[in-house]
Amino acid sequence: MNALMIRRYRYEIMPGPAAQQSLARAFGCARVVFNDYVAANRARHLNNQPFLSDVEAQRLLITAAKKAPEREWLAEVSVVLLQQSIRDAGTAYRNFFNSLSGRRKGRRVGLPKFKSKHQGEQSIRFTVNGFSIRGGHTNTHPDNPTPGRLYLAKIGTIPVRWSRALPSAPKSVTITHTPDGRYFASFTVDVPEKAAVAPAHPGRVAGIDLGLNEFAAVVYSDGTREIIDNPRFARAAARRLSRAQKSLNRKVKGSKNRAKQKRRVASLHRHVANQRLDHAHQVAARLIRENQTIAVETLSITGLARTSLAKSIHDAGWGQFLSILGAKAVEQNRTVAAAPAGFPSTRACTLCGTNSGAKPLHVRIWTCACGAVLDRDYNAATNLLMVAGGHSETLNACGADVRRHLARPRSDRDAAIRDEAGTRPTRTPSRVR
Ligand SMILES: [Zn+2]
Repeated sequence: MNALMIRRYRYEIMPGPAAQQSLARAFGCARVVFNDYVAANRARHLNNQPFLSDVEAQRLLITAAKKAPEREWLAEVSVVLLQQSIRDAGTAYRNFFNSLSGRRKGRRVGLPKFKSKHQGEQSIRFTVNGFSIRGGHTNTHPDNPTPGRLYLAKIGTIPVRWSRALPSAPKSVTITHTPDGRYFASFTVDVPEKAAVAPAHPGRVAGIDLGLNEFAAVVYSDGTREIIDNPRFARAAARRLSRAQKSLNRKVKGSKNRAKQKRRVASLHRHVANQRLDHAHQVAARLIRENQTIAVETLSITGLARTSLAKSIHDAGWGQFLSILGAKAVEQNRTVAAAPAGFPSTRACTLCGTNSGAKPLHVRIWTCACGAVLDRDYNAATNLLMVAGGHSETLNACGADVRRHLARPRSDRDAAIRDEAGTRPTRTPSRVR
């Protein structure tokens, strides 16, 4: 019997005008309860009182609050989503305290903030008592002509675009309203854990240097290497997005045209983000399928200094890629290893280890004092392969000759192939590392 794991299945939903109104009210009530919790805790903190437990908060901010005239409208929405809003606020506080004490790893979590009506995305969550699927199937099979509709307590039934089959009865559903005006339902479902499959190259270690011009330079412990490009369409989509953003800035504030353009920009944003996510999934899946160990520079991108908008967007992409890679590695029994913090993967020569200092980004090839001629990115990837992926077998397999071969400059042919693929050298924000 396989263990179960939780998966999310997301579908677009099409609420009619009445359901849209009820949803707007539900988003509002969930937000008010969340904010009341944050306000209550701030007041208690000032008076040196302990923070509210979830149970106390539910009694005080839902049950008791409904009796007061200024909160009686809370009764108009399902109590299930209000309780969930309290639980979410409670979790936000627990994450903050665990992050403070060091029990929660990773990036620092701040104190919960008030939610704004104007924040990008509105969401509410229903547990099993608050929703069901009614009157039909939840799959895409052609023999099932009646698609099931999503029933939400005190909101009604909403058509769902079942783009793929929902494998079993969902345990909860999160409804989101995106800035470009669409609605989505994300179900959590228990699915049997997939059995791990051995890597296509047993025991092989990959060292990855994530780049700005290209997605990554990858070297393998069997002496092969490759450049993984950014998807060809990403640059075009980014250009379209920047044009749309400029056009938005020119539109008169408060005008209908501006509102329309704003939705267009949001929709392009989502498109670009989806493409990036899709590419990250594909690259991570292939690396996991083929290798036993993947060596990276860092597991947390948030620690890097932000120097420009372009770079921070790249950082976000890398952070996303690393978390996908980590999740797939756990599923498939692979290892993701990071170099020690501050390891100078770009500055050190992979042959003699000499650290010759920072190199401006335009330096693609450099020569070490020991005579080695090195490709900037492949040298960094080889260092990561050695250090992060470096158990002794790998070190032995990766003798000096192999390293020299892995870190050598790219040939003109490499460059020509990449030009055909639509990647060309571009000016990037000057960054020294
Ligand atoms: Zn050297």
